Amino acid sequence: MPAIAPFDPWRNPLCPCPPKYGLNPYTGCGHSCTYCYISSYIPRAFQPRPKEDLLEKVRRDLGKLPPGSVISLSNSSDPYTPPEAELRLTRRVLSLILEAGHRVLIVTKSPLVLRDIDILAKYPGRAVVQITVTTLDGAVAERLEPHAPRPSARLEAARRLAEAGVPVGVRLDPIVPYVNDSAGSLSAVVDAAADAGARQLVASTYKAKPDNFARLVKAFPEVADRLRELYWARGAYLHGQRYAPAEYRRRVLELVKGMAEARGLQFDICREEFFDLNTPGTYCDGSHLLRRA
Ligand code: SF4
Repeated sequence: MPAIAPFDPWRNPLCPCPPKYGLNPYTGCGHSCTYCYISSYIPRAFQPRPKEDLLEKVRRDLGKLPPGSVISLSNSSDPYTPPEAELRLTRRVLSLILEAGHRVLIVTKSPLVLRDIDILAKYPGRAVVQITVTTLDGAVAERLEPHAPRPSARLEAARRLAEAGVPVGVRLDPIVPYVNDSAGSLSAVVDAAADAGARQLVASTYKAKPDNFARLVKAFPEVADRLRELYWARGAYLHGQRYAPAEYRRRVLELVKGMAEARGLQFDICREEFFDLNTPGTYCDGSHLLRRA
């Protein structure tokens, strides 16, 4: 079983990003976000454990990749999930990827990424970090992402990375109807991202699967009926997930796009069909912010 494999978004035509590779140092993730989709295909999804023989496999796989390959960390976990503080596997993997001349895309909710700022800054243009911030409201964040670091700590990480010259994007992802979709909540995140020095703002709406929907309505019982109506009665089934109605999604994403562009941020959507909303020449995975191979 390889550690690095071509990234496959389940052949989803709503993913227009260029081809890349994916690498998950861990199986599962300890941040336990209510909306997380990994619990639909990973057993014990919120009990993170290191991949077996990870470093040996990464060394082997890296040698087979074309020069300057783009590797995404991680799409089925957070590369800075809690055990990483002690195990330092992501740190080792980052060094191996960059020393081998490849490029890396990181998505995280953890300021632990700052521990590796020395490695990231050593290879200018070969690493992009996207930090997910869904709300600035600590109480809402605690219900949405019970074991993830506070939004303020994530934004501080974004600021310090940007100051160190690492290109940073902020992912307002997902936008959950009735939970973090008010204009005030959205603009607070967009403004904080711009103030932190982010270059890109990525937004997308919550996609429901039975297991994450059950967690969501348990965490937010006061909006359960409205969410059920929006997703299961009026929404659509697209590529294995329930989406909110297109008119809702278009409206909220257009709103965020206007806010992002007013602050000079590039804007991209993720797995939504409104490609015209994307800033031309940019991608939601941030790969356009990498230096060309
Ligand atoms: S940080 Fe990402 S992978 Fe981890 S639980 Fe949250 S959504 Fe899932």
